[in-house]
Amino acid sequence: MKAKEILNELKPYKPGKQMEDVKREFGLERIVKLASNENPFGFSPKVKAELPKLIENFQIYPDGYTGKLREALASKLGVRNNQLVFGGGSDEVIQIICRSYLQTGTNTIMATPTFSQYKQNAVLEGTEIREVPLENGYHNLDKMLQTVDHQTRVVWLCSPNNPTGCHINQEDFYRFMDKIPHDVLVVVDEAYYEYVEANDFPDTIAALQDYPNLIVLRTFSKAYGLAGLRIGYGIANEAIIAKLDVVRGPFNTSSVAQQAALLALEDEEFLQHSVERNKENKQVFIQFCDQLGLSYYDSQTNFLLVQLPVSGDQVFQHLLSEGFIVRSGEALGVPNSVRITIGEREDMENLQKKLKDYLTLNSDF
Ligand SMILES: *Cc1c(COP(=O)(O)O)cnc(C)c1O
Repeated sequence: MKAKEILNELKPYKPGKQMEDVKREFGLERIVKLASNENPFGFSPKVKAELPKLIENFQIYPDGYTGKLREALASKLGVRNNQLVFGGGSDEVIQIICRSYLQTGTNTIMATPTFSQYKQNAVLEGTEIREVPLENGYHNLDKMLQTVDHQTRVVWLCSPNNPTGCHINQEDFYRFMDKIPHDVLVVVDEAYYEYVEANDFPDTIAALQDYPNLIVLRTFSKAYGLAGLRIGYGIANEAIIAKLDVVRGPFNTSSVAQQAALLALEDEEFLQHSVERNKENKQVFIQFCDQLGLSYYDSQTNFLLVQLPVSGDQVFQHLLSEGFIVRSGEALGVPNSVRITIGEREDMENLQKKLKDYLTLNSDF
C-alpha cells in the first residue's frame, strides 16, 4: 500500500510520559506530572457536581453547532456567534486552519522553537515551512515580516510562546498587523491567555475589528483544567470562520466537552483560584532559580523553561526516577534546559530540593 509520501518524513506526536508507566518502571507510589502544562489544581468542582447530567443521552449526536457554549462565549468575549469555531482542543483548530489555507506551492511562517503542531499539520498539506528563530525566547517579528512573500498564506504567532513562555507585546503586535499583507492569515495562539499578567499584552479580540485576517486560538485544556475532554476554539472574522466550517467535521466536539466547558466558563472563582496559586508558586520557583543562579525565560504562563549547566535529558531522567515528569529541552529544541509546569506548592518544594541536590552533585556550579 502507498500512503502519502510526506508521511515517511513525519513521526507521530510523542507525548510526555504516562504516569502509570513511570510508577511501574520505578516502583513509585506517587508521580507528579509537570510535563504538559495541565492545571495542577484540577478543574471546576461545578463540572464534577453536574457529571450525572453531563453523561445523559450518549446515544444522541452532540450539537454540531455547539450552540449553548457558543452563545455564552460570544457574549463573554463581546463577539458575534458566527465569529467562533470549536475543535477537539485547539489542536484540531490548528489542523482545520492548515487544511483550509495551505497546499503545495504556498508557504507558512512560524517561530522556532514553538508549538510543534503548526509545523506537523502544515507539512501534511504539502506547504513550505519557513521557520524564524526566536530571540531570547521572543518572536522576531521583523524577521518574520521579511520572510513573507506572495505565496505566504498563514503566519503563526504563539503568544505566550510554548516552550519559552514569552509573549508578544501590544506595540509589537500592532506594528506587525499593520505591516503584514491583509491577505495573509495571522494565527495568534493564546493557549495560556488566562495566566498572562503582563500589562502590555494586546487585546487581540478587540483587534479583530481592525484586522479581518486575524484568528485567535484559546482552549479549555490549560487554565480551565479540561485537557482530557478536548475542547478549544478560534475567534475570527466571520468570513474566516465560514471557510473553516467547511473543513470542520460535523460533530467534532463531544456533548460532554461542550457542557463541561460551559460550566467551567461560568466558574470564574475556580479559574481565579488556579491563576492566583500559579502566580504564587511560579514566584517561589523563580526565586529558587535565582538563588541557584539558573537562568530562565520570561514566562507569562504556568510553566518555566529553565537553562541548565547539564543536558536536559539528564535532568529529565533523574527527576523521573524521583517521581517527577518534566519535559526535556532537547526534545523541544532548546538544549540544556527543562520545561517544568508549575505545580502545587508542596510538589514544587520537593522538586526544587531534588533538582538542587542533583545539580550540586553533577555540575560544578
Ligand atoms: C497545549 C497547547 C495547545 C493545545 O491545546 P489543546 O486545546 O489541548 O489542543 C495549543 N497551543 C499551545 C501553544 C499549547 O501549549
